[in-house]
Amino acid sequence: MLNPEEINMLHNYFLPNITPVLVMEVLGDLKKDESEGKSSKESVVKLARKLLPHNSAVNIHYSKLIEMDLLGDMVNIDNRPIVGEITTKESTTGLRGFHIEDSAEEKALGKWRTGEFSTTDELVAKLWREVTTQKDILENLQQQLKKGDAGSPPLKSLQEVKNYVDQIMADPQNQTGILKFCIAEFGISAESAAVIFARWEQQPEKKFSSFAPYAFYCCLVKLFFYIGLKNHLIGTRPTNHVDLQYLYYLPFCLIFSSNDKFHKSVIELLVGERHTFISGDQLKKGLQEAIGYRSTLSERKDIDRTLKEPPRVPDFIIYKLWNKYLAWPPKFERKISDQEIEEQKKKIDEFIAASNTPGMQDAIDNPDFVVKKYFITLNDPCPCGSGKKFAECHHKQQ
Ligand SMILES: [Zn+2]
Repeated sequence: MLNPEEINMLHNYFLPNITPVLVMEVLGDLKKDESEGKSSKESVVKLARKLLPHNSAVNIHYSKLIEMDLLGDMVNIDNRPIVGEITTKESTTGLRGFHIEDSAEEKALGKWRTGEFSTTDELVAKLWREVTTQKDILENLQQQLKKGDAGSPPLKSLQEVKNYVDQIMADPQNQTGILKFCIAEFGISAESAAVIFARWEQQPEKKFSSFAPYAFYCCLVKLFFYIGLKNHLIGTRPTNHVDLQYLYYLPFCLIFSSNDKFHKSVIELLVGERHTFISGDQLKKGLQEAIGYRSTLSERKDIDRTLKEPPRVPDFIIYKLWNKYLAWPPKFERKISDQEIEEQKKKIDEFIAASNTPGMQDAIDNPDFVVKKYFITLNDPCPCGSGKKFAECHHKQQ
């Protein structure tokens, strides 16, 4: 629902966390109109071009993270995306940091933006479409859930469902049961399950929320969905099953935006204290406010500034979000000298050059730098945020 200019400003003001389910939804469009015999490649290209590579990252798939969490590899739930393909590098002055390569999804998006699709893409799109548009999938599930648990009293609101689920999940009697539910529901392999149960047996206190906090959260969301469905408080539209997946990534963002009815109905019950939910309409309005304001400016430096930070108008939606999370605007502004900028540029070159060194074995907690690589074509918007094509902006200036 955002136009290219709004998308560009979104990437200037925020760091979008792209969920793998969104990538799949984009690809799924490849087979959308197949029944009508026309190609939908254009639609996928158009959508892929909205998921800009700069300032964004595709999060690791939730099922992988659940497995890691259960196995005891720490999954950080701190409102930041979790990305893969990381190597630790050392720069010439001995600073250590991360180099992040494009993930499989990011590589695929890069190809789709140029209209290139593999046979696997076609197959995956077809499968995704078949599974996600199966009309009775949730109706059947609803029937099964009702049969399986006929005795419990009906719940009348989603708030009641949430309270009920919280209660089930906190009950010491249920902890091993929740672990089994998690392993079955999230498709954990038998091999991993054996290791996970061994780890569980060693726990002095059998408490699932501290054993695997992220997996605990995902079980809570899924159980909430099932019980809401069973009580007819969540609808049986097949897309709800897809939309559910977005909620597994809530722990990896600060601001969640959606215009979806299902999301709007459940989100307030699932977001944490630090989260903000903003509807798609509001987000669009916020971006339009900033773009409209920019169009009234005449000085080059003022216009350039709106690419780096939102207009300082306290009533604007994006001003409020920046103010909430970034201690912004700053109390006093420091003038950065040209010399300082030159030095910083040199530092950045040093960090990028570390790419050519071999990766290091030892893990580090606090990287001195993070270099995120991504694939970009001349037709993509310039990463500087100007909104111009890369070919017509910084590529020319190099
Ligand atoms: Zn540029």
